[in-house]
Amino acid sequence: MNSVTSDALSALGSPDNPLRVAIVGSGPSGFYAAEALLKSGLTVQVDMIERLPVPFGLVRFGVAPDHPKLKQCTAIFDQVAQSSHFRFIGNVTVGRDISVEQLQHTQHAVLFACGAEVDRRLGLVNEYLPGSHTATEFVGWYNGHPDYRERQFDLSGETAVIIGHGNVAIDVARILCKPVDELRSTDISAHALEVLATSRVREVHLIGRRGPAQASFTAKELRELGDLNGCEVQVSATDLQLGPVCLEELKVNNNFNAAKNVETFLGWSTRAVKPAAKRICFHFFQSPIDMIGKNHVHSIRLERNTLTGLPFVQSPRGTGITSELECNLVFRSIGYRGVPIPGVPFDTDRGIFPNTAGRIGTSPGLYAAGWIKRGPSGIIGTNRADAVATVQSLLADLMQLQALPRSGADTLSDFLAHHQPVVSYADWQRIDAEERIRGAAAGKPREKITRVSDMLDLVERSRHSMKPINTAQSLGSSS
Ligand code: NAP
Repeated sequence: MNSVTSDALSALGSPDNPLRVAIVGSGPSGFYAAEALLKSGLTVQVDMIERLPVPFGLVRFGVAPDHPKLKQCTAIFDQVAQSSHFRFIGNVTVGRDISVEQLQHTQHAVLFACGAEVDRRLGLVNEYLPGSHTATEFVGWYNGHPDYRERQFDLSGETAVIIGHGNVAIDVARILCKPVDELRSTDISAHALEVLATSRVREVHLIGRRGPAQASFTAKELRELGDLNGCEVQVSATDLQLGPVCLEELKVNNNFNAAKNVETFLGWSTRAVKPAAKRICFHFFQSPIDMIGKNHVHSIRLERNTLTGLPFVQSPRGTGITSELECNLVFRSIGYRGVPIPGVPFDTDRGIFPNTAGRIGTSPGLYAAGWIKRGPSGIIGTNRADAVATVQSLLADLMQLQALPRSGADTLSDFLAHHQPVVSYADWQRIDAEERIRGAAAGKPREKITRVSDMLDLVERSRHSMKPINTAQSLGSSS
């Protein structure tokens, strides 16, 4: 395998000398980056590497099962994957099965779109008491993520506390409070449905360290909580008496989401409280300072905060006034962090790959898009513009990328020769078809296969029994 310098060949991005880009991660930002590259007008070969045998990352494993519209973007991703210049390389972990250095050896650019996989920590001594879970675990569990499939959640107690005032906290609250029969026709995983059907949780407390004007819920998602069948929402009117800085924030034109949220809270605070099977209670200006319990969490200690600082940068400051809230379960939902990959610079404070307009470090060739680029913010659509911006940076670097020494042929297959099995997009389509068949039998859009071993068994069996769907997609074939 000889290394050749691309400038000895035709211009990079021409049919004779395709721009080879590896995208690490197959969630929305990865697919939007692939789409932008394939529509760039250049000849590009995209190799998308995914550690699981199934694609779509956050769309498959993060979006709540009762929000199917948010998953419609997979139709676009499917179209992207049909390109003969696109290969899905599933069941391969970058940094373990193939190194970043090996990728750089063969690709002109490596674009990381690997998201933010782990939760931020509260930093409390008793944060990990049994009964205290991360939102990631719970969301991954009900969405059938293989990493969280075996987690146990004891829903036999009546009171759950969720820390954090973001959309993930709302998802967790809604899944806990929605009548389970309304979840049966979604793609929620069967193991989660079974446990939720026996849940005795009837009170969910959502704890925010700042006020109603600073909550990061999107207005639509917040309002939805008020419309849940058999569930009442409770907010203290005292918490809604806003100080002058908060009022100033709400007056700013582009802060309409916060203004709508406050309006929603005000509406709820004046609504007559009706008896209901379940209740969601919002708490503001409260920081958790301890979790209490010997072998299991039985309460959480909170400290009342006041806000200090200028509009939009107000931070919570403890007042010393504390209270205790009894509970059987805690979910910590305070945002996510990326995880480092050997060979890529990592910002440990922010949990991202440090970058400038998507360029990681100073030498060209490494790029980032999505949550690993900017942190866990925005909705799924936000990742489209973000990925396009990174691809623009990459394409602007074409001259420098052309000058990099890269192996002439696609040698990814050589590097992965001993790694079995590598899962192609055609393999995923067979998993997809099987999930849909299983789902139809249960009146659901799909019944997800939730163990990697079961996915790989299916791939293996179907490879022996079926004709390949698209042979151009298999690893090692030319584009
Ligand atoms: P998020 O929106 O950033 O919310 C995190 C929450 O945790 C904030 O209320 C934050 O308060 C709080 N927090 C952070 N550190 C804390 C600490 N040490 N102690 C107490 N509270 C703390 O994060 P997320 O809910 O994980 O959502 C991630 C992204 O996914 C967001 O952009 C969200 O909109 C998106 N998402 C969208 C949907 C949807 O569109 N349906 C669904 C799920 C997720 P401060 O504001 O004070 O920092």
